Amino acid sequence: MKHIKLSDPVITKDEKNAVMKVLNSGYLASGKDVSEFETNFAKYIGTKHAIAVSNGTTALHAALISKGIASGDKVLTTPFTFIASSNVILHTNAKPVFCDIDEKTYDLDPNKVETILKKQKNIKAILLVHLYGQVCDMDAFKFLAKKYKVSLIEDCAQSIGSQYKNKHTGSIGDLGCFSFYATKNMMTGEGGMITTNNTSLNNKLRQIINHGRLDRFKHNVLGYNFRMTNIAASIGNVQLKKLEEFTTKRIKNAELYNKLFAENKNIITPYVPSNTKHSFHQYAILVNPKRRNSIIEHLKKHNVDSAAIYALTIPAQPLYKKMGYKELSIAKKVSNSVICIPVHPKLTKSDIIQVAKLIKQV
Ligand SMILES: *Cc1c(COP(=O)(O)O)cnc(C)c1O
Repeated sequence: MKHIKLSDPVITKDEKNAVMKVLNSGYLASGKDVSEFETNFAKYIGTKHAIAVSNGTTALHAALISKGIASGDKVLTTPFTFIASSNVILHTNAKPVFCDIDEKTYDLDPNKVETILKKQKNIKAILLVHLYGQVCDMDAFKFLAKKYKVSLIEDCAQSIGSQYKNKHTGSIGDLGCFSFYATKNMMTGEGGMITTNNTSLNNKLRQIINHGRLDRFKHNVLGYNFRMTNIAASIGNVQLKKLEEFTTKRIKNAELYNKLFAENKNIITPYVPSNTKHSFHQYAILVNPKRRNSIIEHLKKHNVDSAAIYALTIPAQPLYKKMGYKELSIAKKVSNSVICIPVHPKLTKSDIIQVAKLIKQV
């Protein structure tokens, strides 16, 4: 029985040759390959600047610092995401404020965000997440950010290749943060990138990620070592060239699932707003919560991986529960019903048909 994985990075001789070239050069840390990757990435996303970092978490952490987020501040974010999105707010000693999600997109609901912005003081930023590759309602968030004078930070860890009105995610807010973790749509093993059109933020970020270095032997602010290696960047340069091909395949796979599930009233398939391009980092379906485990088990029995991403919302995580956070109703409902099934570019048409068939059996 063929093992159908939930994610499976594409690694060919191109990636291997690129890494060997760096190893043979002897220049392993941040250098020429990193600069090239930054230039290529900024060009792809359509921003003036791109700053390479060690991972998606440090990208978000540095982005918050560059906006001056610190102790006493609040940052509004989604409860339905990977824990890194809100842990970085804690890393800056600020306080996460969770707002419920939209029932159809599973992203932050701008109407509910406005209700909170009206009521609560000291919210300095909105950290939104384009979950699964589903793009947030960016016109609404741009409007709110301006009206309430808050920064807008996009967590694009799952949305590389996604677009809102023909603009890439990560080019719309003040800052975009990407992850190249091994399971993401393009990967460098571990890695990340920050994108911005703001030159002063770019300059600040370059110091923050490099121990506050102004020039050689001179450090004027407190910074971190969040740098990317040439080894990672060399993989990134190769993967970036293939990204459009990966995304097209993911969308094709998603469309086939949509067709196969169309007749089934017990399965809710992803909703994609008409003015957006969804990059399908995950293909997430909602099912009856009572059936969810049997579906995952049935798939497992037939060597197909799937997962309830995310079965626990952030406020329900023990760390956050201890801090007094309470679950939000729609996020909780979705977290109880969601299953992510394989949609990566290495899948064949018959793999997709097989996965859909197994799910429909339950
Ligand atoms: C993967 C991910 C991150 C963190 O990225 P790392 O590279 O693993 O540090 C942050 N936010 C979201 C939504 C993610 O999926």
